[in-house]
Parts: sequence; C-alpha cells; structure tokens
Amino acid sequence: IRILGIETSCDETSAAVIENGRTILSNVISSQIESHKRFGGVVPEVASRHHVENITLIIEQALQEASCTWDDIHAIAVTYGPGLVGALLVGVAAAKSIAFARGIPLVGVHHIAGHIYANRFAKEFEFPLLALVVSGGHTELVYMKEHGSYEIIGQTRDDAVGEAYDKVARSLGLPYPGGPHIDRLAQEGTASIPLPRAWLEAGSYDFSFSGLKSAVLNVLHNANQRGETIEAAELAASFQASVVEVLVEKTFRLIQERPVKQLLLAGGVAANKGLRAALASRAAVEGVELLIPPLSLCTDNAAMIAGAGYIVYQKGILADMDLNGIASLPLQ
Ligand code: ATP
Ligand code: MG
Ligand code: FE
Repeated sequence: IRILGIETSCDETSAAVIENGRTILSNVISSQIESHKRFGGVVPEVASRHHVENITLIIEQALQEASCTWDDIHAIAVTYGPGLVGALLVGVAAAKSIAFARGIPLVGVHHIAGHIYANRFAKEFEFPLLALVVSGGHTELVYMKEHGSYEIIGQTRDDAVGEAYDKVARSLGLPYPGGPHIDRLAQEGTASIPLPRAWLEAGSYDFSFSGLKSAVLNVLHNANQRGETIEAAELAASFQASVVEVLVEKTFRLIQERPVKQLLLAGGVAANKGLRAALASRAAVEGVELLIPPLSLCTDNAAMIAGAGYIVYQKGILADMDLNGIASLPLQ
C-alpha cells in the first residue's frame, strides 16, 4: 500500500510517498523559514501564500522521487488540523482536488498523530506506549493502548516547550526559530543560573512553561539594569536544564504509575540534544525502550502524516469532500 502524504499546517510545505506505513519512498520538504525570519515568527498570511505557490510542485516532486505515478497511489493522507487555518486549507484543498479527480481514497490526519508516527520509521510500535510530544504548539503526554488510539494524560497549561524555546531565544537576540540555537548554546554553558521548575500540584502530569520563560526575561532585565552582562550560554544551559528536568521527571513518574512497553519522543523539540540524552540515560536506568525519530523527521514533514494516515486508512476511516481545515482539532 502506497500513501501520498501532504502537510501544510504551519510553515513547511511537504509531500511524501510511503509504502506499507513504514518505508519512505520520498519526503520533500520546502521550508519557509527564510521568509518568516525577518518577522521573528510565522506570519499566517505569508505562510498560506507560500503553500499555494509551492504545493503542486512539491507533490509532483514527491511522486517523481518515489518513481510513482498516480496509479501507484492507494490513498492520500492530509493534515487537516491543528494549525494555521489558512495554511491547512491549502493542503486540504489540494488533497481533495486530487482525490476527487483521480478517484483516490482520502484520509484526514491529526498533525500530532503524525509527529507520534514519525517514530514508526525508527521502529515498530509495541503497546501500550507513552508518547512525550514536545513541539512548537504542543506539550503532551499521550498514552496509546493500540494504533490510532490517543489518551492525553497531561498537557501544558500555557506555553508549549518549543514556544518557550523560541521566546527565550528571541530575548537573547537569536534568529527564528530559536530552539536549535538555544540547544547549541546550552551545550557550551553550565546550568549555573537558578531558575524555577513548574511541578504544579502533586500528582499532576500537566506542564507550565510561561513562568520559566518570564524568569529568564527577568534575569536578563535585571542584569541589564545593573549594567551587567549575562553569558548567553549559561542562561541557555540553565533554561534547558529546567525544561529537561521537568519533562523527564513527569514522564517517568507516569511510567511508574502506568507501565508501558515503549516511550516515544515526538515533535520538533525531539531534535533537542539535551532532552534526547537525558531521556536516553533515564530510560536505560528504568529499563524502558525509548524511540526517537530520525533527526530529519522531528520537525514538520509529510512522511509522518502518511505514516499516521496509513493507520487511519487501514481502519477504513475515509474522509469525503466535506473535509475542512480545523485550527484547533482535538487529538482522538
Ligand atoms: P505543532 O507541531 O505543535 O503544531 P509546529 O509544527 O510549529 O507546532 P514543530 O515543527 O513540531 O512545531 O517544531 C518546531 C519547534 O521545535 C520550534 O519551536 C523549534 O524552535 C523547536 N525546535 C527545533 N529544534 C529544536 C532543538 N534542537 N531544541 C529545541 N527546540 C527545537
Ligand atoms: Mg515549522
Ligand atoms: Fe509540528
């Protein structure tokens, strides 16, 4: 079974062809980062426009690189939420048009399900599993008892991890997206600056990162007022230490309460070296198998959407021409 995946939820226009859910034949990603950099973040209107300009070419390129024609494609899987609605609509409209014109089955995919299924290109899933989702818009602990079944046990009450990274980076004058820059700086510094950890109520698996972000801004502001300079690497390392400690602690506390066969790391922040290392060493101690997507599949791409779409297709859940982009779509 070959599935064409389409992803346009934010600032990557991507199309991919995958076989039997786990083999990538092609995965073309056109990033708009350069266009958004000068605004310090994604501008929705600019994003939609770029998607419109690129989508047809990207899809054709994905077919070509996979050495496929439309006759070789059994289904089209498209991200229909969550994300920027104008951006989502471009992918959804393209997918619907092709599905209609060629008579190819259509499936709608949740973007976060896609991030989770990026792990399946690394290794086959074993259930029950727990996915730690850390991305630009989401921070969630998702329990899965079988394919396509998602139970959110904890989530952020304010900023997502990636969002906090990008805001802290911005305050340090680093370019968008700042996550990778903070990650690199953190390797060069030591966590010498005391910053808070938001544990919330005892037993809570929710997260909060806005207080930490404010604490970082305060450190910078106070130093500035005193005419002192803060070493960016020290601040980056201190910030990352706080983020990683809370994520790792809560994840393994939950695993103690609900044992799982695998722990998955998913979303753009899964590219973070400090987080990967901390989870790997803790997982080894606890005897839990840890899956991490290949670096190239951590941030937005269509292969992961096709991977999650394969499960939806196998379950026979097909979309029709009513499929619409939904900005805030619950994971279920
Ligand atoms: P969502 O998936 O929640 O809709 P999104 O698609 O915008 O949001 P992703 O593409 O999954 O987000 O991830 C992008 C985020 O990942 C950005 O916030 C970026 O800074 C962050 N990121 C990427 N690499 C790293 C890294 N090495 N360390 C920390 N953060 C990183
Ligand atoms: Mg992006
Ligand atoms: Fe994403």
